Amino acid sequence: MNLRALRSRLKALEKTELLETIVQIYKVLPKELIEEELIDDIIADRSGYLELRQREKEEEKRYRQAYQAENVTHLAALQKWKTIPEHARELLLNNVWCSRCGETRLKDYTVEHAGPNIVLRGRCTACHHDVARHVEIE
Ligand SMILES: [Zn+2]
Repeated sequence: MNLRALRSRLKALEKTELLETIVQIYKVLPKELIEEELIDDIIADRSGYLELRQREKEEEKRYRQAYQAENVTHLAALQKWKTIPEHARELLLNNVWCSRCGETRLKDYTVEHAGPNIVLRGRCTACHHDVARHVEIE
């Protein structure tokens, strides 16, 4: 059961059921954890804990939004890459400089914006070293 599922199940409980559940959980907690008094801290600092939870939620939301925004820019960069004819793209992928091997082929690459141009970031087919290729978009 993940945290989200746990929360929704706990929310559905009556207060006395919830209390009993917590007591039962407390009983099976490892001794070291009880000695660390983490649970006691959480109970003692209820409002602080709820605030922390709220901050976690907001952070999660920001992260999700950033992730979606990033995906959109990746998509736009990818579209730029696809405007290049396939044979030219093949040439570019086969003409990447690796600091270890010299000229090599790029593999496992992602496409990113670099101003009006794009950068292909991936690995050298021969030695798996990180390599990148700048591509000018006319
Ligand atoms: Zn290499």
